[in-house]
Amino acid sequence: MIDWFSVQGRDLPWRRPGTSPWAILVSEVMLQQTPVVRVLPRWVDWMEQWPTPADLADAPTAEVLRRWDRLGYPRRALRLQECARAIVREHGGAVPRGLESLHSLPGIGEYTAAAVTAFAHHGRAVVADTNIRRVLARSVRGRALPDPSYSAAERALATRSLPAEPKRSVAWNQAVMELGALVCTARSPQCERCPLAEAGCAWYAAGMPPSVQDGRRPQRFEGTDRQMRGKIMAVLRRDGEAASADLLALDPSDPARVERCTASLVQDGLAARIGEQLRLP
Ligand code: SF4
Repeated sequence: MIDWFSVQGRDLPWRRPGTSPWAILVSEVMLQQTPVVRVLPRWVDWMEQWPTPADLADAPTAEVLRRWDRLGYPRRALRLQECARAIVREHGGAVPRGLESLHSLPGIGEYTAAAVTAFAHHGRAVVADTNIRRVLARSVRGRALPDPSYSAAERALATRSLPAEPKRSVAWNQAVMELGALVCTARSPQCERCPLAEAGCAWYAAGMPPSVQDGRRPQRFEGTDRQMRGKIMAVLRRDGEAASADLLALDPSDPARVERCTASLVQDGLAARIGEQLRLP
């Protein structure tokens, strides 16, 4: 896997030598729910604007949300700013080491704490992202998909599979994650160009049987509250504010939905209501 990555791995800016731990943490938060291709320009812009935690901690929150642009799930932007403030307040402005310290930061869950430990601090950590979980489920367990939520069996397998030596463990995490992103994809695995096919991938060897979970329906986006929240945030990023009455035009057939989504954005701290106007906070 590590040899394969040295030839096939993508040259992504946050992987380059000299990238700061903070810049790597930002990339991991952005990549949590957004594809690489959409993260790339936003990450570059973000790091030019706020290269250190102290820079982001001091930034106006409205500007933070504007520059988050269309990465989606904008609560991540608020949490990232809270994280920057906690790093300045509690760690002297430097991204802390250790899973426990990282996990205690706002917006940093188990996965991100492990990814920062591995990729920013070059430590041994089990980075169980969806790609690694899928590759292990197929190549070792012989299943089409990992368990619906990260299970104890998966955790034990990921821990067992990770090389003991820290430097190799970092390279392994990166390589398996990349294989899942580029080759062993969820919908169309390209086994003919996969180094694990000849190395004994269990699912491939078994003839790629479908999973009992294959009936899971993909999540619908059209018509959801998440889509409407995204539309309202796009108006606020563009204009800074909007009249509540004008926002109803986003879906004249369902004003209750617009109002419900507006209220939830205010509740999440992503927008503020001033009289009849809605604004970025
Ligand atoms: S052989 Fe196919 S199923 Fe197995 S790890 Fe490679 S791409 Fe995935």
